[in-house]
Amino acid sequence: MTVRTRVAPSPTGDPHVGTAYVALMNVLFAKKHGGQFLLRIEDTDRARSTAASERTILEALRWLGLSWDEGPDVGGPCGPYRQSDRSAIYKEHTGRLLDEGHAFKCFCATDRLDRMRMEQKLRGERQRYDGFCMHLSPTEVAAKEAAGEPFVVRMKVPRDGSVTIDDLRRGPIEIGWETVDMQVLMKSDGLPTYHLANVVDDHLMGITHVLRGEEWISSAPKHVLLYRYFGWEMPKLMHLPLLRNADRSKLSKRKNPTSILFYRSMGYLPQAMLNFLGLFALSSADGEEMATLDELVERFDLQNISLGGPVFDTAKLDWLNGRWIRERLDDAGFASAVQDWALNPARLGAIAPLARTRIERLSDLGPLTSFFFAGRLDLPAERLLDGKVPADVLRMAFQLALWRFDTLDEFDKSSVETVMRGLAEPTGAKFKDLVRHFYVAVTGNTASVPLFDAMGLLGRDIVRERLRQALATLGGSSKKEQEAWKKLDAPAAGEAEEG
Ligand code: GLU
Repeated sequence: MTVRTRVAPSPTGDPHVGTAYVALMNVLFAKKHGGQFLLRIEDTDRARSTAASERTILEALRWLGLSWDEGPDVGGPCGPYRQSDRSAIYKEHTGRLLDEGHAFKCFCATDRLDRMRMEQKLRGERQRYDGFCMHLSPTEVAAKEAAGEPFVVRMKVPRDGSVTIDDLRRGPIEIGWETVDMQVLMKSDGLPTYHLANVVDDHLMGITHVLRGEEWISSAPKHVLLYRYFGWEMPKLMHLPLLRNADRSKLSKRKNPTSILFYRSMGYLPQAMLNFLGLFALSSADGEEMATLDELVERFDLQNISLGGPVFDTAKLDWLNGRWIRERLDDAGFASAVQDWALNPARLGAIAPLARTRIERLSDLGPLTSFFFAGRLDLPAERLLDGKVPADVLRMAFQLALWRFDTLDEFDKSSVETVMRGLAEPTGAKFKDLVRHFYVAVTGNTASVPLFDAMGLLGRDIVRERLRQALATLGGSSKKEQEAWKKLDAPAAGEAEEG
């Protein structure tokens, strides 16, 4: 048997470090066993999936030095590798489940489902589908269909007893069927949900081992059942522990930047980043922590993956990156890393026109544009407050900007400007006055090259990090303030997006 693993990201946002970590573990496992690794795009959530997100996920994984034997960009014998291109396959499989009596059409309208859940809640019961449509006769189903009533397809789930999930690292996990809902497999628009598409694809793509985040453990019973219904052998499962913040909470972008692109913009070497993520699969008793991809493969063992929440320790990442720069790069390698990072023709070509009309000597370029070649700026509060907007109003403006920048589809000069203009109303400050403070927070100066161009070029990750740092320097924002500001944010955010 050839080992085949995969990573199956949903393209609904920035390329998350968690995705890279899961991808790496699957790469290591496949390589260790002389197998193959695939990349599949799981874009069943049509409302949230974007082509831009898919592009940046692939770009980020490639930047880290990962590659895949099959995938949407490289093709392969089991394609297409993007779920939105596989609708006919899922339709056919749903039909099979319906024909064989493992699934049923459910015509329940939202208000009936809401009422049902509410009643279950009042009775102190677990909220789940009550099986109403499972008992419709074929004639009733046909009549509803003929009348054009919309329906979803749900899977049948045993009501009693339990199922045992065999996890390669955790051993058997027993889960009672009473916790498992009659999952919707196909939505009323005829498109599949994650569960159906995931199982069908893992089977058709010959996946033998699934290493994925532990948040999927509770979905495993549904998958076991689907494999049984189809009569297929299930891949071996291993649920990886989620990455954690230093305080052990689930890694979230409120406490640590989570986009791979942020770490690239901050000037971490891809080799060091990959090495850092690979540490979670090395035995701590094993001494040397600096390792290339090949060395990680060499030393990989599932048993080394500690189940007790691995901490995404940025101090360790700094240390490792420093070592990579000093010990693994020679002068030429270092120069080329710097070039890749920012001193390349494309980057200079974008920055130079912004500076050209504002300098007298070429040597003015350094001081004027140095903030493009920096990460965090560590500015003192006095500098941030140098202007007309008082600290409390400014904190609110920074917080609103952080939220609004986060939700922008495209982060560029014009969308940034729209958000910035939209801050005047909720904060009651003048746009012009606010801009001066943002200038300082983002560039370190009260005037520089045009701010919105600069923000667009710096990119969302670095801009948000500098604003987050500026907000923290001014005292951060309390829970109560956040709640109050969120209320102001909702309608205004809508306007900003339209504007
Ligand atoms: N699309 C899922 C995700 O984004 C994949 C889960 C799995 O690996 O089964 O995490």
